[in-house]
Amino acid sequence: MYDYSKAKNALAEYLAGTRKASEIKGFFSPYGIYQQKNDLFMMRLRINGGRLPLETLRKVIRIANASEAGYLHLTTRQDIQLHDVQPTRISPIMDLCGEEGLPFRGGGGDTFRNILTSTLSGLRRESVFDIIPYADELKKYIFTVDKAFELPRKIKIGLFDAPQDEHFARVQDLGFLAVKNGSEKGFKVWGGGGIGRNSAEGVLLFDFIPAQDLARAAKAMIDLFSDHGNRQNRALARIRYIVKNLGAEEFVRLYRSYYEKAEAPAITPSPAPAKERTLPRSFSAHLQPGLEEWKQLNTLPALKEGETLVHVRVPWGNLKRKDLEAIAWIMEKYSLAELRLSPDRNFYFIDFPTDALPALYDDLLTLLPGVDTTLKSFVGQVVTCIGCTVCKIGVLNSPELGERIGKKLDEYFQGKPEQKLLQANTILGKIKISGCPSCCTAHPAADIGLNGLLKGGAKMWQFYLRTREDQILGDPEAEPTPDDQAVEKIFSLLKLN
Ligand code: SF4
Repeated sequence: MYDYSKAKNALAEYLAGTRKASEIKGFFSPYGIYQQKNDLFMMRLRINGGRLPLETLRKVIRIANASEAGYLHLTTRQDIQLHDVQPTRISPIMDLCGEEGLPFRGGGGDTFRNILTSTLSGLRRESVFDIIPYADELKKYIFTVDKAFELPRKIKIGLFDAPQDEHFARVQDLGFLAVKNGSEKGFKVWGGGGIGRNSAEGVLLFDFIPAQDLARAAKAMIDLFSDHGNRQNRALARIRYIVKNLGAEEFVRLYRSYYEKAEAPAITPSPAPAKERTLPRSFSAHLQPGLEEWKQLNTLPALKEGETLVHVRVPWGNLKRKDLEAIAWIMEKYSLAELRLSPDRNFYFIDFPTDALPALYDDLLTLLPGVDTTLKSFVGQVVTCIGCTVCKIGVLNSPELGERIGKKLDEYFQGKPEQKLLQANTILGKIKISGCPSCCTAHPAADIGLNGLLKGGAKMWQFYLRTREDQILGDPEAEPTPDDQAVEKIFSLLKLN
C-alpha cells in the first residue's frame, strides 16, 4: 500500500478551512486527483493499456459506487475518471483503490502516466504480436521505480502492435512499435516525441530491440529524463526539450549510453491461460429497427471464427454508475472476458459471439437507454477533451463545439443512410478538439485538430491540419478561427458542403 498520508493531511486541512484549494493541488496531482471548476473533485483511475477484464470492471464499479461520483468519464488515454466527487470521499476512495489493486500512482503530475496501447492489439490481421501483456509487465516494473514518480515533468509511454499505429509511437515521450527480426519479437523505439506546447515528433532510438529488453529501454529513458530534464522550468521540462537542446544525434547517443548501463528485469509475459467459455443457449432478441446499420457501423470481424469486435459508443465518454453496472451485466450474460477502452473515449467488446449480435443490440438499447451506444446520432461522438466547464485550466468548451458539429452531421446525413454508413467512421477518426493548448486529445496529430484560445477576449479555435499521409503532426494555421465559424470550416475541410 502506498503512503498517502501527506496528501490526506493536506486534504484534512483543506476541509477544516486552514488550507486553500490551490495549496493542495501539488499533493494530489501526482495521483491524478484534481479539483474541478465546480469545486468538486475528479479522481483518475489508471487502466493499464485500456484493458478492462470483467473482474477489474467490477472493482471499478465498487469504487465508483463508494465514491458517489456524479458520473464517469472515459479518457483519450484509456483511463476512467470519477467526476463530481465530494472532497470528503477522497481519502476513503484512495484507500479502497489500494485495497482493490488499483492504487493512485502516477495518474497526473510529473510522473509515469498510463501506458497507451493499440486498442485492438492482437485482434487484427496486421498485428505483429499482442503488446498488451508487455504493457502489463512494463507497468508492474515501472511501479517499482520510485524515480519514475519524481520526474521533471510527465512521461508518456505507448506500445503499439501494428504498422498502421506507427504515427502514435512517434508522438510519445517513449514509443514502441512491435516488429519482428526473423521470428524474434521486438520493438522499434522512438523517444522525445510529445504533444502539447511545441509538439514534436520523436527521434528514432533503435530500429530493433528484443521485446524482453522493454523494461531496460524504459528505465534508460527514466534515468536520462531524471538526470537531464529541466527541473527549474516545468514549461521546458518535457523530454522533447532535451532533444531540442542537444540535437537529435546527440540525444540518441546519450539515450544509448543510458540503455547500455540500464538494469531492469527481462520482460517475458507468460501466455494467457486458455479461455474457458461456454455459451450453452441461444439468446433471444426483439428485432429492433436499425440492427443492420448498427452492425455495419459498429462491428468488425474478429480473427477467431464466430466472434466479432463490437465498438460500443459512449457519447462524450460519459457514463453514469448504473451504466457501468449494465455493461458488466452484459459481459456476464455473454461470457465476455474483457473490454478494451479506446482513445476515442468509447470501448470494444473484443470477443463477442457473432450469433448473439441481435440480442446485444437489443440489450444496448434497453439497458443503456440514456446512452447512444449505437451511433444513431453524431452528437457526443466527435473526440473532445472534458473542456473548460469541468477542467480548471480549460479555456473553451470543447464538448459544446463537438456537439454543434455532431448536430450538423446529423442534419447532413438525414435521408442519406448509405452515405452515413460509408463515411461516419472516417469522419469521426479525423477530428480532435482540445479545450486549451494543453492538447489532452493530442489534436496536433489529428487530420483536423483544434484547440481553444481567447484572443482579445474572443473565443477562437487554433486549427492544425494534416494534409499528407506521411505527416505526423499537423501544420498550425497562421491565424485562429472565430468560434462561430469553426463548424462551417470543419465541414468545408471534410468536403461536406
Ligand atoms: S485540453 Fe485543456 S481544457 Fe481540455 S482537459 Fe486538457 S487541460 Fe483541460
